Amino acid sequence: MTDSDKPSSISSPDDAGERVARGRLFVFAGPSGVGKDTLIRELVGRWPFYLSVSATTRQPRPGEVDGRDYIFLTDEEFTTWVEEERFLEWARFSDHRYGTPREAVEQQLAAGVDVLVEIEVQGAMQVKAVAPEAIFIFVEPPSLEELEARLVRRGDTDDMEARLERARVEMEMADEFDHRVVNEVLSDAVAGLLSVVARPEGSQNDQPAD
Ligand code: 5GP
Repeated sequence: MTDSDKPSSISSPDDAGERVARGRLFVFAGPSGVGKDTLIRELVGRWPFYLSVSATTRQPRPGEVDGRDYIFLTDEEFTTWVEEERFLEWARFSDHRYGTPREAVEQQLAAGVDVLVEIEVQGAMQVKAVAPEAIFIFVEPPSLEELEARLVRRGDTDDMEARLERARVEMEMADEFDHRVVNEVLSDAVAGLLSVVARPEGSQNDQPAD
């Protein structure tokens, strides 16, 4: 059985009208600063997918747009979303909370669209518990020293020690993932990712479900 044949536990197809083969759920994790955003930008146009927009309680960084980069929520709003079970998963990171809104992910999967969620490792493990059929990809830096250098280059030095400690913990979880991609040479990492997301020939979306 390939990843794409496995049944999904997130939601079932709509029985009314035509049945659409479900999209596949990809979970993309790896330490902060490893270059996940750059890699995702490289995938645009080479693979049709929906990128989940997370909610967070952190403040927007310069240039970030509400609803595009993140859904920026107050602490109270985030708590309400948790209580209303609107998150597929959520986790704390650097004194803030981050979560994947469930509804958009489910809608896209049901419409047959592949979905990519870019989250930290704790959240990825939660997704594994509710959607074990998802495909888990861990992006790692060539080394922790290189990761630190990248965080410095992007000016992300505020809570550097905490981020590096977190990175160490995250890298210890890498074995839990289906695929590992080292982001050293960008083009190699992109090629590695494309080979993971490529739809196997004869997979569910090449033919009608049922
Ligand atoms: P940043 O504040 O740098 O944008 O993100 C910090 C960390 O939060 C990154 O490792 C990122 O992958 C993670 N993150 C972003 N959105 C989510 C989410 O919806 N859920 C979880 N669990 N982590 C997220």
